[in-house]
Amino acid sequence: METPSNEVFRDSIATINEEGKRSWIFPKKPSGPLYDKRKIVSYFLLAFLFASPFIKINGNQFLMFNVLERRFNIFGFPFWPQDFHLFVISMIIGVIFITLFTVGFGRIFCGWICPQTIFMEMVFRRIEYWIDGDRNKQMRLNRQKWDAEKIKKRLFKWFIFLIISFLISNIFLAYLIGSDKLLTYVTEGPKEHMGTLVPLLIFTGVFYFVFAWFREQVCIIACPYGRLQGVLLDTKSIVVAYDHKRGEGSNGRKKFRKNEDREAMGHGDCIDCFQCVHVCPTGIDIRNGTQLECVNCTACIDECDTIMEKINLPKGLIRYASEENIEKKTPFKLTARMKGYIAVLVILIGVLLGMLALRNDVEARVLRLPGQLYEHKENNIISNVFTYKLVNKTSETIENVSFRLRGQAGNIKMVSTLESITIEEQGIAEGTMFIELKQSDIGGDKKKLRIDVYSGEKLIETTDVSFLGPRSFN
Ligand code: SF4
Ligand code: SF4
Repeated sequence: METPSNEVFRDSIATINEEGKRSWIFPKKPSGPLYDKRKIVSYFLLAFLFASPFIKINGNQFLMFNVLERRFNIFGFPFWPQDFHLFVISMIIGVIFITLFTVGFGRIFCGWICPQTIFMEMVFRRIEYWIDGDRNKQMRLNRQKWDAEKIKKRLFKWFIFLIISFLISNIFLAYLIGSDKLLTYVTEGPKEHMGTLVPLLIFTGVFYFVFAWFREQVCIIACPYGRLQGVLLDTKSIVVAYDHKRGEGSNGRKKFRKNEDREAMGHGDCIDCFQCVHVCPTGIDIRNGTQLECVNCTACIDECDTIMEKINLPKGLIRYASEENIEKKTPFKLTARMKGYIAVLVILIGVLLGMLALRNDVEARVLRLPGQLYEHKENNIISNVFTYKLVNKTSETIENVSFRLRGQAGNIKMVSTLESITIEEQGIAEGTMFIELKQSDIGGDKKKLRIDVYSGEKLIETTDVSFLGPRSFN
């Protein structure tokens, strides 16, 4: 089927030329109120990203995702593999939140919060503007032969990009293994930790490749969130949009000429200056409509507003708006789909908060030793052997830990000289113990027992076990 003429732009992407080769984008340096606001948001988020591995709450790193040791800290709360269900709920909440946000506000996340956009547009691109100059200078430099100036500029830029990539890798490592460990590795020197240094350098290479070369391709080709836009967006979603009704008028766009009555001629407000295209970091023409490549960076809004101001026309020819806002001139409304997502989100957040509130600082698991039934001892005492595992999720050592039977006469004997246990901060204590009951107290071949775990006289956890006795045949 042949593509309609007004949809031909969808057959190709701006970053790949007809021969299938990379077409480099030289976006104009953005400026304007939205760009200034994005700069503030970006620098705040960058400061947060770089600082949070070094912030501690109750001795816990503020954010840590130690997949290697399966330990996670979120907002200073430590999560263990035993808390996996909480982690899964948090992830589901995150996905629903992003889905809801996308249905309502399109790809705003990409433009304002996504680390790829922030690093690319607010760090690497700004360094590039500083070294190579704005769009025209960059294009000239690109065409220029490899003379002293070009070599100097390129080497300087690539060196700075490499340093920043190395820095980013270190920060990601601090999230992965913890900032304390990272600082120890740094002070002890790389030779001692080659196993960490090698992946660190590989990641430095990956970041360098992404920000120095791959760039907008991440958003256009690689990002799965970008691919989802097609199914999540509808005509009511707020996106960066060109007001085609106003821009095209009844007679299309036309270049600006002084003292010309555009309205009488039926021309729209778009003066076809291409500034919105030149400033676009993904190289698209937003006037073609909502496109998958648009990361909602708002650069074209600022650029077009500047043009509108210059020619004395109202701002907002390109603005945050939905297709319906533009077609019917109606304000933003919550759709049934969004209300549904909000309801699910509120329920899940409630469930998560409830589970967090009920979560114990200590997790106890007591299991019967596999293959062992019971032992008949003197005086009709039946003994079962159990293994225990105690997980201390706090950042304080828990001392004087002991087990007691609740509501049941009997003995607990630890297989160690120590009758009480110490669990190091964020540590695990494991061991074996015997539980002994009088046969007459078992009342059958199986009995449920409740075991309380105490630290001194403070009850810190409760767990249940099954106690086995001899089968009675009466
Ligand atoms: S910047 Fe505005 S006026 Fe210029 S081409 Fe883009 S939409 Fe038209
Ligand atoms: S079309 Fe506008 S908002 Fe979208 S990526 Fe390009 S400049 Fe940014």
